[in-house]
Amino acid sequence: HSLTIQILAGMGIGVVVGLLCSLIVNRTGGFVGDFTSDYLVEGLFNLLGQAFLALLRVLVVPLVFVSLVCGTAALDDVRKLGRIGVRTVGLYLMTTAIAITLALIAAIIVGPGKGFGLATDVSFEAATPPSLVDVLIGIFPKNVIAAMSQGNMLQIIVFAVLFGLALTLSGKPGKRLLAIFEDMNEVIMTLVWIVMKLAPYGVFALIARTFATQGFDAFGPLIKYFVLVLGVLFLHALVTYPLLLKGFSGLNPGPFLKKLREVQIFAFSTASSNATIPITLKTVEEKLGVKNSVASFTVPLGATINMDGTAIMQGVATVFIAQAYSMGLGVTDYLMVIMTATLASIGTAGVPGVGLIMLSMVLTQVGLPVEGIGLIIGIDRLLDMVRTAVNVTGDSTVSCIVAKGEGELDERVYNDKESVQET
Ligand code: ASP
Repeated sequence: HSLTIQILAGMGIGVVVGLLCSLIVNRTGGFVGDFTSDYLVEGLFNLLGQAFLALLRVLVVPLVFVSLVCGTAALDDVRKLGRIGVRTVGLYLMTTAIAITLALIAAIIVGPGKGFGLATDVSFEAATPPSLVDVLIGIFPKNVIAAMSQGNMLQIIVFAVLFGLALTLSGKPGKRLLAIFEDMNEVIMTLVWIVMKLAPYGVFALIARTFATQGFDAFGPLIKYFVLVLGVLFLHALVTYPLLLKGFSGLNPGPFLKKLREVQIFAFSTASSNATIPITLKTVEEKLGVKNSVASFTVPLGATINMDGTAIMQGVATVFIAQAYSMGLGVTDYLMVIMTATLASIGTAGVPGVGLIMLSMVLTQVGLPVEGIGLIIGIDRLLDMVRTAVNVTGDSTVSCIVAKGEGELDERVYNDKESVQET
């Protein structure tokens, strides 16, 4: 069987086993219940899942650094680098703005929080997100080892681009070092391939534990909100992205959606765009034909600053909270929400649950109670998984569009049916 099918099976079996475990733990007490929760869910599944996640995470920093140094060095002129940068950031901001606008419109039409019996015991400790200026200052690394040890993606990107530029300007020593970097890139990609082979088991364990520990009671009153967020997420992934691909670059969206399935499953089971970077990069380069010179920049940058799925959740959540508290929002408020959510996604790492922290920033901007987040936090994990899959789909869409525009996309690979199967 192809790896995609195995990973899909891992996910499906994970859901079923997880739900079974949750049933056993909740319905059966005594030895069987304790054994299931302590040894199976919190023991075996937790161990396998976290080990797999760690294997993925450990690849991210070396892969992004080495691959981006090679990518930058491969670009023949600095202006091209600038153009790729501007186009990528522009498209990332645009797709996020579209995403949140769609979410606001859908939420205003459906009214998920109307007539909501507001719980009085809701409490949520709002985190203070950094200001935009701080975020921008924070892009520049002071200590590259610190940046790498903290996994600060934007700082690593800046340093790697500068390093790659310096390589091309350094004559013979630069050429020698570049050859070593290119070899390292190959070796790290092989490491990614090894980790992918373990994915069916890792994905199974992560999903089984999530479904075993996710309480489903909280869904009742929030079902309208939940379904609406899901609906807009699917709309964005299956309509907006294909339209953008076709409209901006004339590419057929069919192969794109098929080949991206694995990446989406990784994002879904880890709920982290960041941890998914190795898989996104490998897929975008090897199956969709985007050259390393573009993908090595657009993919890690996207995992850090482009969060369309997160923006969708924020749009629906803002309207939901306003309605739940019976507070009105005007046109300027909505514009403010679009702007804040779009900007807020910059500089916030793609890790689980970060979308809610950013939501507190959006709510504060339009004067809504931040405690409202407490209403939806109970069901956020599942939505986090789906929106992360949308986030990485957005990163990959923009990678293809930018690559096509720069003549850095191999359309034979993009359209090739074979590369759907092999990994
Ligand atoms: N988990 C998301 C991601 O990694 C971010 C979020 O919405 O919380 O892309």
